[in-house]
Amino acid sequence: MNIVEDFFVPARAPFSVVLKAGQVMRIVDLESQQAVDALFYNAHDYAERYSAQDTLAAEAASGRKFYLETGSVLLSNEGRKMLTLVADTCGYHDTCAGACSCESNTVRFGHETRFMHSCRENFLAELQKYGMGKRDLVSNVNFFMNVPIRPDGELTVDDGVSEPGGYVDLRAEMDVLVLISNCPQVNNPCNGFKPTPIRILISEG
Ligand SMILES: [Zn+2]
Repeated sequence: MNIVEDFFVPARAPFSVVLKAGQVMRIVDLESQQAVDALFYNAHDYAERYSAQDTLAAEAASGRKFYLETGSVLLSNEGRKMLTLVADTCGYHDTCAGACSCESNTVRFGHETRFMHSCRENFLAELQKYGMGKRDLVSNVNFFMNVPIRPDGELTVDDGVSEPGGYVDLRAEMDVLVLISNCPQVNNPCNGFKPTPIRILISEG
């Protein structure tokens, strides 16, 4: 890897970076079982952004799984390729369960969780740096998050399966603004009940 940028993202923190087309971003789960929530925007036109719906529909049409894996292509709301998942040590990544929020925490875990930090707050804080806000907060990818579907159709969040040092590589197919929330959730096992730091490496293809 020809690494051109190397970032350390503390536990619970937001992060953003612009990838140039052709660059590869590696997200490293340093200590294991850390959910990494991510949003993607065309760096030159933020109205074009990642679409979980279009991505999953295209994955299904090509006979692929419900989860993102090596070879998966992340599409925009205009149906264009934004990123390709070119390597992965985890096996699968969710793009259905959304980002945690104060609101969903109170519904799932009780009113006393109302004031706990959440991914939605991380995203909103990072979005405002680019002149965006709530209306720009769309469905995201949850890297390293284990979201099995039960036989009765229920979607659950289980213990993460990624190992220490596990990583996923994403190649930018256009210039992409990446927003990340290093998930602070401690009410379910998506972070092993212990949020931990991650590392972001950018390389020239
Ligand atoms: Zn979260």
